[in-house]
Amino acid sequence: MRRKAFRLYSTYLKQRFNGRVHKISIDAGFGCPNRRGGRDAHGCLFCEPGGSGSVGIERDAAIPLQLERAKELMRRKYRAKYFIAYFQPFSNTFAPVDVLRNCYDQALDVDAVVGLAIGTRPDCLPPETLDLLAEYDRRTYLWLELGLQSIHDRTLNYLQRGHDYQCFLDAYQQAKARGLRVCVHLILGLPGESREEMLATAEEMAGRRRKVAPVACA
Ligand code: SF4
Repeated sequence: MRRKAFRLYSTYLKQRFNGRVHKISIDAGFGCPNRRGGRDAHGCLFCEPGGSGSVGIERDAAIPLQLERAKELMRRKYRAKYFIAYFQPFSNTFAPVDVLRNCYDQALDVDAVVGLAIGTRPDCLPPETLDLLAEYDRRTYLWLELGLQSIHDRTLNYLQRGHDYQCFLDAYQQAKARGLRVCVHLILGLPGESREEMLATAEEMAGRRRKVAPVACA
């Protein structure tokens, strides 16, 4: 059997936590600065009305209930032992620090939740929020998941992202300065991008990982 050239994230998590770990998408009710601060129809060209997120997410339930129900399902289906609460739809740092703290704590209080993944935009990370994330990083296993999609400003403009690549770089550097694990979301195959441009995005992210990120997933 041929060996894989990379280690699967699921394998890494299993080794780290000594058991199968699954991410559970939860909707904490945040809006998005790129949707006029709420959940209206504007925003990134590719964004679903529901702001993305797994199928079956129980958007109207309280955070602990969303987690408990998904846990049951994942235990049955995948024999998962531990869980990472993934704040996925919309921008999950788009609120005052005390509101964020309350939501993150609700998730961490749920039995067998061993970490947090916080999805957001690079222009939604003021210093006090980054400090809060650094605090949670010391308490638990935390990933900051940053939407970028492409390093090319022409594409970001086309996508109506509402920020440029430099904005991402600034946020990334601030996060890394606080020791955070950063996962970057990219889309390959965007309209108008050549193969070379797509490869440039991938290479830039891979290079960034070698330079500064001890662990990164994109
Ligand atoms: S930043 Fe995220 S939630 Fe907001 S419009 Fe873009 S993809 Fe959707």
